[in-house]
Amino acid sequence: MHKIHTLIFASLTLVLCSCNTTQKNLKNTVEIPQNTPLAPYMAEAEKIHDDIFSVDSHTDTPLNFTYKNFDVTKDNSKTYVRSCVDFPRMRTGRLDGVFLAAFVGQGNRNEAGNMRAYNRVNQIIDSIHAIVQRNPSICGLALKPSDAYRLKEQHKISVFIGIENGYAIGNDLKKVEYFYDKGARYITLCHTKNNDICTSSTDNTEGKGVSEFGRQVVAEMNRLGMMVDVSHISDESFYDVLTLTQAPVIASHSCARALCNNPRNLSDDMLKALAKNGGVVQMCILSDYVKPSVPNPEKDKAFNAFREKYRNYDSMTEKERANVHEAYNKLEEKYAGQKATVADAVNHIDHIVKLIGIEHVGIGTDFDGGGGLADCKDASELKNITAELLKRGYTKEQLKLLWGGNLMRVMDEVAKKASKS
Ligand SMILES: [Zn+2]
Repeated sequence: MHKIHTLIFASLTLVLCSCNTTQKNLKNTVEIPQNTPLAPYMAEAEKIHDDIFSVDSHTDTPLNFTYKNFDVTKDNSKTYVRSCVDFPRMRTGRLDGVFLAAFVGQGNRNEAGNMRAYNRVNQIIDSIHAIVQRNPSICGLALKPSDAYRLKEQHKISVFIGIENGYAIGNDLKKVEYFYDKGARYITLCHTKNNDICTSSTDNTEGKGVSEFGRQVVAEMNRLGMMVDVSHISDESFYDVLTLTQAPVIASHSCARALCNNPRNLSDDMLKALAKNGGVVQMCILSDYVKPSVPNPEKDKAFNAFREKYRNYDSMTEKERANVHEAYNKLEEKYAGQKATVADAVNHIDHIVKLIGIEHVGIGTDFDGGGGLADCKDASELKNITAELLKRGYTKEQLKLLWGGNLMRVMDEVAKKASKS
């Protein structure tokens, strides 16, 4: 989940409130013309996806569950503006599994605020379970990698649960186990603001990192076998976590700061430390993390005017809404050229692979939380990333690691460490 993003209709404000050996095979991306079409690589991309397990480690799709015209089992691209992920589009994009984030924005750090956050995350997790229970022929809940591999054989989509913002546990350590038992397999320690666990990359950190309570949270997650997600946390918190954790960690949706200087991204030193820990960084395709955005007052004005014009979206008829969607898509198209592209995003993968090796990188889109590229707008276009990687000389084995093998390795290792403690 991105910081509060403003592109969503005002009437929908509820939404927010977003190895060395393998390296030798890689070509130098600088020499590759970025405008080569991806089409010649698409058939091979699809063939490879048939054989590998692919997973997106972070989407905010549950934010859409509360809207009556959204159905995750149907293609919502024509009926629900801004929606990026549903099962049919995952099929088209060849994505086998997804971590649905149970997200809660940071609010007051007191008893009432903590209770609200806890209830909100519970509600989202219950809605995820309900979807899985209602659709046993299409999907299944994945609690461990072997579940996901079994579901792939059964041609079913794997639904994983992650919690975005440790605010959901407030200051009660027992809630970590409670959420683990409800199926959550990672917790992003904080969101855009500091919380009782640690400081955020986008809050005034004052040089502080993980709190005393946060130290206990990391130990508890290690004990249970729950992945610690370091996306969103401050640099100080990041290094604290790496000192504290007994197991590999993940960054569920972050990019390389060397290519896009954003506090949400990881510096080269951080990436090296992550590799030493055995963890994995899941490249995010939120445009602002991929490529520095150029200020555009005209675009801001156009979107503000759009929001104002369609303030009554919730009370519109289906036909009126269809017109709004068309108008929105036109607006998106008009400014799409300014969004980062698949080639820009794959530059991050190249950079990370060269720096720390293919074993430490994956993909976490942040779809439905602000994620999306000019040429990868939703889950149906994810195979464009594979095609771009093939164009640059990545092999099937490398794609297997990148699309899920690495994250599943970390998940297994975290679980193994837990059983030992
Ligand atoms: Zn996020």
